[in-house]
Amino acid sequence: MTIIKVLYVDDEENNLSSFKANFRRLYEIYTATSGAAALDILSQTDVHVVISDQRMPGMTGVELFKKIKKFNPEPIRILLTGYTDIEALVDAINDGDIYRYITKPWNDIELNNGIQNAYDVFKTRRELKEKLAELQKTNDELNRFIYSISHELRAPLASALGVINLAKLDNVYSDSEKGHEYWNLMEECCNRLDYNITSTLQYYKNSRYTNIKEEVHFEKLIQDLIIIHKLANNIDDKIKFEVSIDQTEVFLGDIFRIEIILGNLISNAIKYQKPDEENKLIKIDVKVNLLDAVITIVDNGLGILNDHLNQIFNQFFRVHNQKGTGLGLFIVREALAKLDGKISVESVVNSGTQFTLRIPNQR
Ligand code: ADP
Repeated sequence: MTIIKVLYVDDEENNLSSFKANFRRLYEIYTATSGAAALDILSQTDVHVVISDQRMPGMTGVELFKKIKKFNPEPIRILLTGYTDIEALVDAINDGDIYRYITKPWNDIELNNGIQNAYDVFKTRRELKEKLAELQKTNDELNRFIYSISHELRAPLASALGVINLAKLDNVYSDSEKGHEYWNLMEECCNRLDYNITSTLQYYKNSRYTNIKEEVHFEKLIQDLIIIHKLANNIDDKIKFEVSIDQTEVFLGDIFRIEIILGNLISNAIKYQKPDEENKLIKIDVKVNLLDAVITIVDNGLGILNDHLNQIFNQFFRVHNQKGTGLGLFIVREALAKLDGKISVESVVNSGTQFTLRIPNQR
């Protein structure tokens, strides 16, 4: 069983002696005659409960507790005080500097109960802290594991896609009707796997990376993303993009996360087009000002049912399920949260969808 370590601080030696005499069989006792001496002991010993008299020359009990809380908030603090000091205590109690106060002269049973309760609080808090650290460690390990698996999968997948491209170049496709179909299926599966791995890596990176401020040029960023996602989604030029950028102000933000956010939204606008639509259209509008960037991405695609609108940002929620993982918009929401940004969506089935984003300018 752990022996409870108690530090008692009082400038009157008599009180220290009687405290020692009463409690030495129950606790491991340390004593100090001033705040400075108490701080010295605390810097060397893992004390569980600190009891201090309020009225001491040099440093009062409340002042001592404020100092202790600053450099080590763990020891639970009990103040011994007369009735006349109560007013001075109110702030200290409200600020959480003091766990409990006991009036002087103390009663042995009351003080003993106070120490026991204080230790219970100490123990619970420490256990919680340890559990939290354990949880954090497991979570980190799990994340690292997911990251390295995803990373490892990337290389063989890139090779497989390379072989498929070679097959295309060598015209293996034209050999037979079935061959053509199988190679296409294989390419589609590889692309989907690549998309899943990319989403997992994006999620991992978003949860780990700290926010880095960089200058963002939306014109270039959006044009690059359009090219990347057209290629990734394997589409021809039948989708028309109308991009309008109004950026005269410098915009500073976390370009890595902004890319993830816009990339996912552009990719969705491409993926969820109506297959038979003659005039597939995606409009991207960016307005940058001193405070933020307001971005709208509008498509004339499949649209989203009203009932689904409040679920699309949930993990693994997907409607047109053959095309995605249900992770894209979840990652968008998580990444936006890290930037203090906002997103809203309006949609009409069979007519199109509009996402509106507001990302703070971190100038
Ligand atoms: P997924 O990987 O399935 O695309 P998302 O989280 O990006 O996952 O999207 C969730 C679901 O929301 C999708 O399955 C799709 O049905 C719907 N959705 C998202 N964007 C659009 C859009 N622009 N038009 C129509 N439906 C969309």
